[in-house]
Amino acid sequence: MIEIYVLCGGYVDLDQTIFFPDRAPGTRWTVPIPGFLVVHPGGRLLFDTGIHCGAIADPIGRLGERRAKLFGLRSRPGDDVVSQLALLGLRPDQVTYVVNSHLHFDHCGGNAFFPGSTFLVQRKEMEAARDPGVLAQQRYFPSFQDFDHPLAYRLVDGEHDVFGDGTVLLLPTYGHTPGHQSLRVRAGKGTEWVLAADACYTQENMDRDLLPGVLWDAGEMAHSLARLRELRDRRGATIVYGHDPGQWQELRRAPGPVVRG
Ligand SMILES: [Zn+2]
Repeated sequence: MIEIYVLCGGYVDLDQTIFFPDRAPGTRWTVPIPGFLVVHPGGRLLFDTGIHCGAIADPIGRLGERRAKLFGLRSRPGDDVVSQLALLGLRPDQVTYVVNSHLHFDHCGGNAFFPGSTFLVQRKEMEAARDPGVLAQQRYFPSFQDFDHPLAYRLVDGEHDVFGDGTVLLLPTYGHTPGHQSLRVRAGKGTEWVLAADACYTQENMDRDLLPGVLWDAGEMAHSLARLRELRDRRGATIVYGHDPGQWQELRRAPGPVVRG
């Protein structure tokens, strides 16, 4: 049996033009930072670690002035992956794998809390995150204080079948960042979920085929978006979008599973 749990990794408010570049600037909205626990007979896998819990008390110290202004922190105590795992009676040392979709601050903020886990990150992502040339082009990328710890990073190249049985697959969805990845989970017959992360922020971005303002490579991102749309529209997969406030309201969140099969 495979289960998926939806965890809250925080909330930020931001200008809608970051998601929808064709809108007039000046309208902000609050979006969720989701994390997910996948429970497989071979181990527990956490997909994304949200924003560091210390950002609630000290947003500027944790995020830096520029980011703290761009992304107003709206998390409350308990909106972090370690607290969310505790709702399930789990401690960080009971998590076998941690997958970072990419190394932006809202997806790897809790990495340091998992020193006993194996981290699965695309090699392209880690190399870009440490490359000064890339950093100069993407000013807020990456978050050294979030990911740069002596953790057990295992760098992967492209698709990766985590448990070797085809149920939990790292799916490269480059474009938002150089090595962004999503996660495809098959649970039971005919149930396929794809945790898109920032390969697609919201359902509206997918429906309108609209790329966001924040991206690394528009061509690669359009290709990844098309691939995800095909999984949704041709294969009947459920896509969980990266930061979709509307979908977030509908998703069953921990401590209950959103998928069991
Ligand atoms: Zn994000």
